[in-house]
Amino acid sequence: MIQLIRGFKDILPGEVELWQTIERTAVALFEDFGFDELRIPIMEKTELFARSIGEDTDIVEKEMYTFADRKGELLTLRPEATASIVRAYIQHKLHAADPAHHFYVIGPMFRRERPQKGRYRQFYQIDAEIFGDGSAWADVRLIHLLCTLMERLSVTDTAVQINSLGCPDCRPAYRRALSEMLEKVADRLCADCNRRRQRNPLRVLDCKVPGCREALTDAPALVDYLCEACKIHFDTVLESLTALNLAHQVDKRLVRGLDYYTRTTFELQTGALGAQSAVAGGGRYDGLVKALGGPDTPASGFAIGLDRLVEIVAQQQPARRRAPRLFIAALGPEPRRKAFFWRLALAEQGIRCEMEAADKSLKAQMKHADRLNAGHVLIIGDAELGKGAGVLRDMTTKAQVEIPLNNLVAALKATLAAQP
Ligand code: AMP
Repeated sequence: MIQLIRGFKDILPGEVELWQTIERTAVALFEDFGFDELRIPIMEKTELFARSIGEDTDIVEKEMYTFADRKGELLTLRPEATASIVRAYIQHKLHAADPAHHFYVIGPMFRRERPQKGRYRQFYQIDAEIFGDGSAWADVRLIHLLCTLMERLSVTDTAVQINSLGCPDCRPAYRRALSEMLEKVADRLCADCNRRRQRNPLRVLDCKVPGCREALTDAPALVDYLCEACKIHFDTVLESLTALNLAHQVDKRLVRGLDYYTRTTFELQTGALGAQSAVAGGGRYDGLVKALGGPDTPASGFAIGLDRLVEIVAQQQPARRRAPRLFIAALGPEPRRKAFFWRLALAEQGIRCEMEAADKSLKAQMKHADRLNAGHVLIIGDAELGKGAGVLRDMTTKAQVEIPLNNLVAALKATLAAQP
């Protein structure tokens, strides 16, 4: 038997309902907060990701699903959404009339990471991005949006970790200070970090190897090197979060794996997930639109890991397969024929109804209805057809009533509508 690809997964009925609830909650929230949906392709030219995410990031170095198509063009399954959103923004000149835009994207991303609980090779993200607003307010609005989503989903055990990565004006001095420090502890760093140290020293701060973390206890912090403008920006973000009562902590070590981040960077963490504690990550990337050939446009955004969010929400409200309102237990050929048409008419009227595919005993059918968690069962055999009335059983209270068959759909609609 052919199995699915390692690190990929199916989302089955019984699980998918929770995904739908979260996605619907997110879409409603985006509508309330003034974000428009953007649908972007699942594949792009490899160059787009290489240029935007950065050649010496883990994603580009070792995690992308890249292949040559039949004409030899290098294509990549998207590892994240921001690069494509920026490409679309530039390509369709969405900035022409007004550079300010609010976008959201929901969909699968692909990274060839080592699979483990909470980490998949196809995973899902909810992305939100604000273009054309360089102010601290835009960052605050994004974090507020993220926290509001958690609140609407009743996710409480979360905290925002926040840092500033400075800008091209203040980062070089910090980079130098960090590089000097890293050189001194080079013999205590892992091989990856020693390579990163030369090319992208900030990424060393992100290493999870305990030896590296220890060696970095005295590393300089970027927030101590911020230029005046970056400092004002960061202070405004922090003050506004406090004013909004949004719990947050400055984490001087927080850096993002992606190259294009500037100034505010943040993560939403939770205690509910064990090792994979980050539910969402984001920040400002003022240089990216220009770097990809567009006009100089500030931008800020975040990505929520939907797989992880589902896992957290499932801890408090277990997913449940959607249950039929009615199950028709029909006994014999004529009742089954009638039931077939009633079922279609009920579905047309918005009443989910199921019945047995094969001819089975009443006992077997009642068991099936129970398994499906049906709200009611309509029992009809030849005797009921002769009488013109079926038996309607409430599966919760076990109460049974007679229901006329001559205008069954209307009668059922009225009865079921009267109940929660
Ligand atoms: P990033 O795009 O790396 O900033 O990640 C944003 C969020 O996506 C993270 O906080 C995770 O919740 C989620 N995420 C990233 N990679 C994976 C993965 N391989 N499997 C599941 N979720 C992921």
